[in-house]
Amino acid sequence: MTKPPAYGFETLAVHAGTPPDATTGARAMPIYQTTAYVFEDVDQAASLFNLQSYGYIYSRLTNPTVAALEERMATLEGGRGAVCCASGHAAQLLAFFGFMTPGASFLASNRLYGGSITQFGRSFTKFGWNAKFVDQTDPDNFKRALDEAEDCRAIFVESLANPGGVVTDLEAVARIAQDAGILFIVDNTMASPYLCRPIEHGADLVVHSTTKFLGGHGQAMGGCVVDSGKFDWSQSAKYATLAEPEPAYHGLRFQETFGDLAFTVHGHAVGLRDLGPAMAPMNAFLTLTGIETLALRMERHVANAEAVARFLAEHPAVDWVSYAGLPSSPYHALAKRYLPKGAGSVFTIGLKGGYEAGIKLVEGVELFSHLANIGDTKSLILHPASTTHRQLTEAQQIAAGAGPEVVRLSIGIEQREDLIRDLDQALAKTVV
Ligand SMILES: *Cc1c(COP(=O)(O)O)cnc(C)c1O
Repeated sequence: MTKPPAYGFETLAVHAGTPPDATTGARAMPIYQTTAYVFEDVDQAASLFNLQSYGYIYSRLTNPTVAALEERMATLEGGRGAVCCASGHAAQLLAFFGFMTPGASFLASNRLYGGSITQFGRSFTKFGWNAKFVDQTDPDNFKRALDEAEDCRAIFVESLANPGGVVTDLEAVARIAQDAGILFIVDNTMASPYLCRPIEHGADLVVHSTTKFLGGHGQAMGGCVVDSGKFDWSQSAKYATLAEPEPAYHGLRFQETFGDLAFTVHGHAVGLRDLGPAMAPMNAFLTLTGIETLALRMERHVANAEAVARFLAEHPAVDWVSYAGLPSSPYHALAKRYLPKGAGSVFTIGLKGGYEAGIKLVEGVELFSHLANIGDTKSLILHPASTTHRQLTEAQQIAAGAGPEVVRLSIGIEQREDLIRDLDQALAKTVV
């Protein structure tokens, strides 16, 4: 047998999970806008319901278009399997649902997407899941926090943190999780698998909001959990849901039965079945299409972000620029190690004119869109203190990296001279 060729990232981004349609020959992945699938006979139906054979039953659990995206995501992240779902927050819920039980805890970086801080810190407590936030600038802080966390089962970080500029020392944190025998989960949304592949640096699970760079065009909500397939669920009673008999499936043991696909099968057969946040087939189709140009887009996103960040760092109305792609950033060395192709295209700046200047800037731009999203082909701008973070006190805003003078930019793929000209004219209006 000849060894199959090891295709490169750009090739896999176009081909993985989407061979020509077996029935029609259609070259693009069809949108299976379908909810249920006919059983061949009663025996085949029984075998599907017992998880003794793979196949489609009902699109809350699996759908052919969504399955194609799952295969592509697992391939691009170098994982064993993937579960796609309705949004990035649904992916986080599914990731933790796989192994958390009431009273258990996990450690999370305190530099996360604001919505994740709220999901973990507030809503997860209703399930009895306790998140403990840790200052991730020193990875040893996770080791120290482990001693105080009761029944701690995971460490959660973002590879490149939202809002931008912060890079996590993935291998240092992975070692701490591994020594403690707990899971290491990495949110890779801001980097995308083109810039960073966390499983190569020790991540057990990788989560994504596919809403951002993967879909890439601001059209489709989506989320994904990729499993490395490397975590041994039987090493501790903490992970009994995946290692011990599951009553809903006649005492089936997921790890014993499915090996390194245990988490992926459980994510569909229990997680999606019971929690319900299935991804819409149309959104899987749009995301598959988006991923085909991921490499091209990320190259342009990064080149544009570097040019815009350099321009802003020199601008008299700008106090500071927090972008790991700039040599002046304290995270530049970590960015070179974990994000060698570039530090993404989302970053924050501080305006000398404070809160008023922030408002004038978002109102003064013409090409940038003032909205709360990132990872679009179009350039986006947000003043957190007057929008996403306005309910917080000023002290809380500053702690979250969203002080009154802070503006977040998500640099798109337009011509960079146009972006610089737009920011320049809008910045002129901030100086009175
Ligand atoms: C947007 C985002 C999320 C949440 O994803 P949704 O698709 O909006 O639910 C989680 N993590 C990061 C880093 C994000 O940027």
